Amino acid sequence: MHSSGPQPCFPPRPGARVLDAAAYALPPACAVLLAAHALRPGNPGLALSCLVLGLLALTRQAFARLVLAPGLAAGALIWAGSGLELVRMRLALGEPHVRLAAIMAALAVLNLAGALVLIAAPGKRRFDKRPELAAPLAAVFLITLGALYTLQYFLRPPHGPALLLAERFAPTSGWLEATLIACYAAFAAARLLRLKTQAATRSLIWRLFSLVFFLQLALGLLGLPAMLMTGALHLPVPALIVAGPLYRGHGLFMLWLFSASVVLLGPGWCSHLCYIGAWDDLAAKSKKLPSPLPRWAVSARAAILGLTLAAPLFLRFLDVSLEAALWTAAAFGLTGLGVMALASARLGTMAHCTAFCPIGLLGNLLAKLTPWRLRVSLECTRCTACISRCRYNALTLERLESGKPALSCTLCGDCLSACKHDALHYRFLNLSPARSRTLFVVLAASLHAIFLAVARI
Ligand code: SF4
Ligand code: SF4
Repeated sequence: MHSSGPQPCFPPRPGARVLDAAAYALPPACAVLLAAHALRPGNPGLALSCLVLGLLALTRQAFARLVLAPGLAAGALIWAGSGLELVRMRLALGEPHVRLAAIMAALAVLNLAGALVLIAAPGKRRFDKRPELAAPLAAVFLITLGALYTLQYFLRPPHGPALLLAERFAPTSGWLEATLIACYAAFAAARLLRLKTQAATRSLIWRLFSLVFFLQLALGLLGLPAMLMTGALHLPVPALIVAGPLYRGHGLFMLWLFSASVVLLGPGWCSHLCYIGAWDDLAAKSKKLPSPLPRWAVSARAAILGLTLAAPLFLRFLDVSLEAALWTAAAFGLTGLGVMALASARLGTMAHCTAFCPIGLLGNLLAKLTPWRLRVSLECTRCTACISRCRYNALTLERLESGKPALSCTLCGDCLSACKHDALHYRFLNLSPARSRTLFVVLAASLHAIFLAVARI
């Protein structure tokens, strides 16, 4: 029998109280100590990066616990490594070393204790906000930070021009930029994971990316070469991702980037990462509801893809000058803008991306080789609410009957929140629909943030 009266409330044991206090105090304290350690060799950017992590430790966000725990464990290794190095130096110079060794060991133990407290119950009690999002947000944060820290470590003077923009203006500030962008990535991912805020957030962060990309280009052209990737200008026309290397015979960087996005996100490049697609999204959304494109649009895009593959080879074969080839590419890009203004804005469907741009079709075709899919389940009542959300011309009544969207689906995810019957699902191998979607958002938000930091012409 269960008693229905109030349960006796036991005061927490003194040991538990100490551990709870440690979960509050140790993470920020360790972050401040690590920041001081980063200042020693003159790395203020890394010191500020540690302080940002210290600020994260003052929040109650559950994901912060999963980010800080490995951070403090790494901190323990840093103190141990630095301690060993310093003790060795003192031994070599015949100077006293015992006190130094004890201090460095104590700092390493403090970090380790902080990490252990965080992964145990006191850490869970301390960081109790949105525990259901803890793992995906921590994954986004760590993927973004790991990638940007790696780029910052290897790609900066004297190994070449810095890849992270802040580093180009203030040495060591790339570390801080990487950390701030990782925080932004986790924030964006939280909003993308919530169905209610997903569609608006996707559009917003996609436009932000495009704005940053073109703002850097504009400032570069106005005489700030630090805003450009290498100083060598390229046309920001997506078709050149394949046409450029076919004409030049080299310059595969963008193709690698695009291929990596296909491997990780399937057709997601065209709904999350392309610097031009965001404009088509903007143009199409100027009309409230999308109208379907004519059937010939599919064949037209296939023909344009064929032309994009054949024309550069033809120009190269004829030894056409680079200048003439660039004018051809510019004319193609301008035609695309015309398609946005005349078709996307009028139809409410992204005509540029689903009927004109060859890279979109290439992405759709290559994505068929990846396990990413969108599926319509038996719960679908054919209410057609989702059709009015799809700007990629991928949903029709026939498509709902067939259980899958058209080839032009980019996994944008906008249709999911329109469905009151939870009938549209991401699929990835044997993962459940919910896990598939979470994985997609984790990868999309991380790639978006990394691209935001490094993509420029
Ligand atoms: S279809 Fe082309 S322009 Fe549109 S998002 Fe994809 S690559 Fe970019
Ligand atoms: S079917 Fe859904 S996920 Fe695919 S493009 Fe259309 S709205 Fe986006």
